[in-house]
Amino acid sequence: MSRTAPGIGTPGRLPAPARDAPLDPAWQPWIHLLELTLVEANDASWVDMVPAPVARPEGAPLLHGTTLRLDTPRAPAHVRRLGDAIGLPGAHDIDASELILAAITRDDGAITRIAARAGVAADTMAVIAQLAAKPLLHACARALATHVPIAWMHGWCPMCGAWPALAEMRGIERDRRLRCGCCAADWSLPVLRCAFCGEADHHRLGFLLIEGDAQHGRVETCDSCHGYLKTVMTLSTLQPHVLARHDLASVAIDLAAQDRGYARPSRPGWSPDIRLAN
Ligand SMILES: [Zn+2]
Ligand SMILES: [Zn+2]
Repeated sequence: MSRTAPGIGTPGRLPAPARDAPLDPAWQPWIHLLELTLVEANDASWVDMVPAPVARPEGAPLLHGTTLRLDTPRAPAHVRRLGDAIGLPGAHDIDASELILAAITRDDGAITRIAARAGVAADTMAVIAQLAAKPLLHACARALATHVPIAWMHGWCPMCGAWPALAEMRGIERDRRLRCGCCAADWSLPVLRCAFCGEADHHRLGFLLIEGDAQHGRVETCDSCHGYLKTVMTLSTLQPHVLARHDLASVAIDLAAQDRGYARPSRPGWSPDIRLAN
């Protein structure tokens, strides 16, 4: 279906926020943590901790109902490295398994408790938790890719349940592939369907173009849930480090979309129920 079909919505215009501009220096500590994490995620041993999928209700991501075995020194070593990199007090006392589980199950209460014990802000611990879980989540996405249902028609990630960080319009065919910012999984969703509420009425769906750069990116909007999703034209699958960097580098686009009344959902996509093995 043509993406420029009449009725898809009158595009608004976003000022070009220097899509390829250097990242704000304030992001540098976090980029350093992200780089540490992506190096760690390349270690093959994380695959040994990928749980076996179990029977689950319709719409549940693959990790739902699984039992995690994190009996590896890599998990606490990774958390210590992250904590040390930003001078986090009490980093060596954090229970890495508890933190990773809290991140994957999106248990904000648990993250707040872990933060209080470590003496840091909950927001800081939430970022550390996301990065702590990333190597395992990436390993899950790699190892379990063939288990993703072909007919997956939800906006949340089929692997971990997170909302997509962005959508790729990939290749000459312009296949719409949603990308998870947590595990880097990718999955299809039809062009005229809101990832957040499932709206398929083209009168309710629109997009904001990035001024002078319509070939590269735009923001999809939904007037039913007022959600927005950044979209980027790609020739092939974005590698995880490019995906993460693109998300950070386009913060100005987020702000511009939010100025127009659109927002990312405050509720999680699907919070998987996962247990730690004893
Ligand atoms: Zn995911
Ligand atoms: Zn929507």
